[in-house]
Amino acid sequence: MASEEEEVFQSPKFTPKSPTLAPSTGEQQKSTFHEAAEPALPDPKSQRFSALEPDYNTVPTYPLRQSYKDFHSQLRTASRVVVFDGAPDDPYRPASVPIYQTATFEQPCASEYGAYDYTRSGNPTRTALERQVAMLENAHAAFAFATGMAALNAVTRLVKAGDTILVGSDIYGGFHRLVKNVTTMYGVSVKLVETWNLDEVQKALDEDPNVTLVHVETPSNPLMRITDIRALSNILKSKGIILSVDSTMMTPLLQQPINHGADVVVHSMTKFFGGHSDTMGGIVCVANETLARKIAFFQNAEGTGLGPFDCWLFLRGIKTLAVRVQQAQSNAQDIAHFLLRHPIVKNVYYAGLEPNRDEMVRNSQLAQDHKTHMGQAKGGGSVISFTTGNVELSRMVIDNLRLFKLTVSFGSCNSLCEMPATLSHASIPAHERTLPDDLIRLSVGIEDSNDLLEDLQRAFTAAMNSQTAPPSTTPRSVTINGVAAPPLSLADEDSSSSDPKSPSKGLQTRKASSTMHTSDRTKPELPQSANRNVTVVRRTLMTSALKDEETAKLDEELRQLRLRVEAHEKNRGLAMSFLSGLAVAGGLLAVYTQVMSRDKSGR
Ligand code: PLP
Repeated sequence: MASEEEEVFQSPKFTPKSPTLAPSTGEQQKSTFHEAAEPALPDPKSQRFSALEPDYNTVPTYPLRQSYKDFHSQLRTASRVVVFDGAPDDPYRPASVPIYQTATFEQPCASEYGAYDYTRSGNPTRTALERQVAMLENAHAAFAFATGMAALNAVTRLVKAGDTILVGSDIYGGFHRLVKNVTTMYGVSVKLVETWNLDEVQKALDEDPNVTLVHVETPSNPLMRITDIRALSNILKSKGIILSVDSTMMTPLLQQPINHGADVVVHSMTKFFGGHSDTMGGIVCVANETLARKIAFFQNAEGTGLGPFDCWLFLRGIKTLAVRVQQAQSNAQDIAHFLLRHPIVKNVYYAGLEPNRDEMVRNSQLAQDHKTHMGQAKGGGSVISFTTGNVELSRMVIDNLRLFKLTVSFGSCNSLCEMPATLSHASIPAHERTLPDDLIRLSVGIEDSNDLLEDLQRAFTAAMNSQTAPPSTTPRSVTINGVAAPPLSLADEDSSSSDPKSPSKGLQTRKASSTMHTSDRTKPELPQSANRNVTVVRRTLMTSALKDEETAKLDEELRQLRLRVEAHEKNRGLAMSFLSGLAVAGGLLAVYTQVMSRDKSGR
């Protein structure tokens, strides 16, 4: 596939008229495009219909980008988001890139084109945004789209009827809907594959020689599966298959897939780039000029480019990207550790958790996932998923969260929460959904993490109190990315009140029906003396793959143990009261005796 296409896309017909900025396409494109040689009729024996492709070289399809190569090496990423001259040619030297709010641009003369002619094809504010993101991703070029979905749709245009796209099976619901219901309408096959398992990828490639594009999210959304970008790229490169990575969850601050061999990187800029849940946009970054021409062509042909004002909002958002990403990630680490230790939590899914030595010994996959992720990213980011083992319980948690706003998105400076099965991934039919129904996804914001922990603790307590059936609320085991991790020992639970990162109680719930203070309805805490035994029971729960009945039995055992310990503590309390009564009486007696003896001696 690659050799055949490269011939077409790299023919020397492309000659920009300006030495620095090539004219864009716009309306001029029509006339020039029709001068192209007649496309040959499709070969009836060929299933690929490749001859119907447009010839992208008959016109320049995007304004030329200045090289930022030297600039790249001079500054660190956190500086590069701030230090950027988006309007180098502006005579007034504005501190902020101007919003070129215009649809058309006057041309110098009938025979010469200016740098821009029509905003659908290119606009200086959009170019500034595209340049900066290309620089951050170390890409050849970038193209800003009206939404993340428009950006993803442009990527699907890189294949033709008869081709197959392999898609990671844990994927954003909107992309699943697009490729399954729209892309397939045009004769493209779509297969879902566990791309974190390279043997599965190899098998799919062996079975289908028509694969021309592989699209993955890593970490995947929402189960945080990790695909090894470099290893996958090595497999695909030799076959000329394009590797596209949706890196929305990471931002270029944490992961730069092109550096690891990806050909295309997509972001929903609606998330971290904007960062304030107030703007929609997407961006496609490409590793080479061949891909740049194609994406530019489709962006112009389909009219999906981002408008100037939205581009400006993203340019503004990018300035604070580094501080937001860092703060949110630091909060996410605190929350991930809190979730791991909380009894309501069954599984934690978070790419940034470093497994401890015990966990590594027990499950090498967990260690491998973390190692792979940290080999291609600088951190786990700020999106965490977890399960409770019970859909109703998860719903109650969501309904009782107050700082975490219930929204489908992520990457905002505000903390957000949702249940993917009913919101962001609801468009995936239930039988194709790989995610658990009780999964909660948190997008951790930049608030003070203590407030976020308090919000979670309060919601957990309210949710647990609302449940009548103890077995469903009792933790069976805690896992990270589906792998068992040490449960919360009750010592941890009890000590939470003195830990600054541990929530205090007493905040009101969001729902009017449950406006109780948590302290009013807090479950009785298990006394310290019971810690060791209960931890042992939980460890048993954790290390064995339990069927429901066995789990219920152990839950019952745990409940009985709690009752026994409580009774024991009560008795011990009574005994202690009796003894202290005796001690007080003894003291009084001693004082009385002394006073009497003083009286007798006359002093
Ligand atoms: N990619 C990912 C990983 C997403 O989560 C989303 C949306 O949630 C998109 C792409 C689509 O982006 P947009 O909503 O900006 O169209």
